[in-house]
Amino acid sequence: MTSNTVSLADQRRRQVEHDTAREEHHRERESLLGPIRSREELKALAEDASVRLADATTDEVLTWVAKEFGYRTAVACSMADAVLPDVVAQHLPWVDTLFLDTGYHFAETIGTRDAVESTMQLSIVDVTPQRTVAEQDAEFGKDLFARDPGLCCQMRKVEPLAATLEGYEVWITGVRREDSWLRANTPLIDWDEKNGMVKVNPLAAWTFDELIEYASEHDIVINPLMNDGYPSIGCAPCTQRVAPGDDPRAGRWAGLDKTECGLHT
Ligand code: SF4
Repeated sequence: MTSNTVSLADQRRRQVEHDTAREEHHRERESLLGPIRSREELKALAEDASVRLADATTDEVLTWVAKEFGYRTAVACSMADAVLPDVVAQHLPWVDTLFLDTGYHFAETIGTRDAVESTMQLSIVDVTPQRTVAEQDAEFGKDLFARDPGLCCQMRKVEPLAATLEGYEVWITGVRREDSWLRANTPLIDWDEKNGMVKVNPLAAWTFDELIEYASEHDIVINPLMNDGYPSIGCAPCTQRVAPGDDPRAGRWAGLDKTECGLHT
């Protein structure tokens, strides 16, 4: 009884310390931000670094990001796991971590998002679509994802992300070359013409096993669906379990002529 009480008190103290540190970071953050540089300046930086750091390690790439962009950096996280934001937070503690809150997520994904926010040195930014699911249903008809997933992804993912990214100079993704043949040539550093900013894929060369090994070694929060047949996790209506050994993304928009949501194409 006594040790349980102490443990709860300890947990509470750690939570208060965690939340206080995040608030302190947010207060300081504004003073650390410089003006956003022009599209031309950012493009030149991306082109130079993409050659210079073409074979760099994850740490070397992120050291460059932290020095060059500081907190004008955003990390995209699907909440399948929190390896990417953890790796980035080693260089930029409390970095903004964007979660596309489409309104269609599995309960496990929302639970992972909440666990990441309450335990990790990150600042979660929920990126929400212009319309709620109910508003989209009313305007476009129920279950648009089944009739026009391209439009649904455009309105619930691509447009909200593009609007949010306007406040940053670089975004960091967890795209890995192993994900699919479409991603096989993903560079570590790239120019994102569509969003007019630098795009960094520091885990591009990582294998799935390396990802899981890092998560286990560093006690990283993992979506429980990852151990239940979902190596790639998107919105619930568009994600199915895959058989062991299958293409990890085979369960995304299964049966449809669609393999990407439009964020990386
Ligand atoms: S993944 Fe499916 S539900 Fe989610 S935004 Fe795209 S089409 Fe809509």
